[in-house]
Amino acid sequence: MTKTHSFAADVKQMLDIVVHSLYTDKEVFIRELVSNASDALEKLRHIQLSGNTILDDNLPLEINIQTDDQAGTLTIQDFGIGMDEAALIENLGTIAHSGSKAFVAALKEGGNAAENLIGQFGVGFYSAFMVAESVQVYTRSWEPESKGYLWESSGTGEYTIEEVEGQRRGTKIVVKLKEDQKDFSKPETVKSIVKRYSSFVQHPLNINGEKQNTVQAIWLRNKNEIKEEEYREFYKFQADAFDEPRFWLHFSSDAPINLNALLFVPTENPERYGLGRTESDIALYCKKVLIDDSPQTLLPEWMRFVKGIVDSADIPLNISRESMQDSQLLQKIGKVLTGRFIKFLQEKRTKETESYDAFWKDFGHYIKEGVTTDWSNREALGKLLRYETSLTEPGKFSSFDEIAGRMKEEQKEIYYLLGSSREAIEAGPYIEAFKANSIEVVYLFEGVDEFVMSHLREFDQKKLVSADQEGLNLESVLPKPDAVKMSDAESSDLCEWLKATFGSRLSDVKPSQRLVENPAVVLSKDRIMSANMRRIMKAMHQSVPNEIPVQLEINPAHPLMHSLLKLKVENEELARMVAEQIVDNCMLNAGLLDDTRVMVNRIYNLLEKVK
Ligand code: ADP
Ligand code: MG
Repeated sequence: MTKTHSFAADVKQMLDIVVHSLYTDKEVFIRELVSNASDALEKLRHIQLSGNTILDDNLPLEINIQTDDQAGTLTIQDFGIGMDEAALIENLGTIAHSGSKAFVAALKEGGNAAENLIGQFGVGFYSAFMVAESVQVYTRSWEPESKGYLWESSGTGEYTIEEVEGQRRGTKIVVKLKEDQKDFSKPETVKSIVKRYSSFVQHPLNINGEKQNTVQAIWLRNKNEIKEEEYREFYKFQADAFDEPRFWLHFSSDAPINLNALLFVPTENPERYGLGRTESDIALYCKKVLIDDSPQTLLPEWMRFVKGIVDSADIPLNISRESMQDSQLLQKIGKVLTGRFIKFLQEKRTKETESYDAFWKDFGHYIKEGVTTDWSNREALGKLLRYETSLTEPGKFSSFDEIAGRMKEEQKEIYYLLGSSREAIEAGPYIEAFKANSIEVVYLFEGVDEFVMSHLREFDQKKLVSADQEGLNLESVLPKPDAVKMSDAESSDLCEWLKATFGSRLSDVKPSQRLVENPAVVLSKDRIMSANMRRIMKAMHQSVPNEIPVQLEINPAHPLMHSLLKLKVENEELARMVAEQIVDNCMLNAGLLDDTRVMVNRIYNLLEKVK
């Protein structure tokens, strides 16, 4: 014989768990009681809509909070549906029974939806006992014939109910605070908690007669009905910001999950002034009630400059409403949002280029950081990069898709060069052959850009290649019209001498096809890793080659090479010094000269010879 048993529960023990183990922050009891008041008002609105006769029908649908720090009480009162005796027993006398959930289910059966109801777990009310010595619930149901009741408990396993006269419709909850929790009866404390969690409750909320929720939950409204001013006001309220929002994305979707988000890009970038790292400021809401004001894993690190809110009615909250049951879903929400935000920036870039470029100047480093850290969005982020190039005017930017669009037919790769400025790059030796062949070169002015290129690797299947590599497929440049080329014999003589002079320090010495104004250049088989880049890599504990084998290419048409050719016969020691100096200059141009002391001393020695 098999007998079926029901689980038994020790009520006292259960209450104890709810009160002492469920919540991390005591202050959430205010959120819970306010949410219940809001639900009660929402239910009343539904009952009104279905044409019932209602007690005290003239009472406003609002929530009133009174603080009394003398008496040490906090009172939360609503003119919602209230409770009769049976409802008190069922809802407040039964742990984990949610009258709100039952209400939604009943409405659903009638084919209606109650989207704004918050309650679902049937435990929130008991959170008051975290701070309360006792809780009194004065209540009277909306039904015209109803009576008023007082429910009272100290949360230790028992409660009392008695009839009381003179009640109006709705519920008034008086929380008598424990001695050490009296802070919750101070108006400032309560105001800041309400601001944090309950700024967007559906109905007006007053604290000591003063309206609190002055800003609407505009993210749930239709985009077309929201004025620009409302977005600006919301941003300042939500982000506690003093600047104006630069631009914003208002995003709503129903599938695969219900999602409403408002993402703002600020005008000011605090990290730009070296004021430390910005903390992510995107709050997670469920039905207008705050769940987490900085969900850690929601968005990638590089998006920390974005401010705003995300609201989803679908998120499977855990019972304390402090986090979600399903961290994978949180990641999914984050993925959708990130993708949508990148798309939004792409649209800005193409449609409002000027304001995008202003954004790029102030916030570009977050995008660059994204390219190097957020591999799943790397390609999309690559489209957001903006650089000056050899074909743009100074101070004007291009994107890789524009650069790719301008590529010559036979060109397979996109070239870039790092330098401290446009002038520095254009005076250097590497750009000459590209200029002569009118091949566009992307100019990188910050060390981090080199790092970005090495992570991005390619754009639209076109490899990103540093223009200082040897063996690039370039046609040779024409020497200056008045330049005198040395004979092949002379130039190989000079190359041989240089090879002998430098030994293993140079992998090879060759006459160059790519130089016009400059006497020589060093090139490498691999991308030349600049001193800068090596510093970054060292800081990231990556292994860095100490010596990069470079090849020297000389410009046989350059006057300096003609002189060197003569000098090596007339005064070899001086010729050696000049050659060393030329190579150091090349290394400097390549960003490879780490220590300049030797060079500086040599220059003094050379100067001494000027008589
Ligand atoms: P939940 O809100 O998740 O349902 P609670 O423990 O917060 O759980 O509340 C339990 C139930 O008590 C609610 O579902 C509701 O039926 C009832 N209740 C709580 N507060 C009020 C109120 N201010 N007015 C009317 N009913 C309330
Ligand atoms: Mg509740």
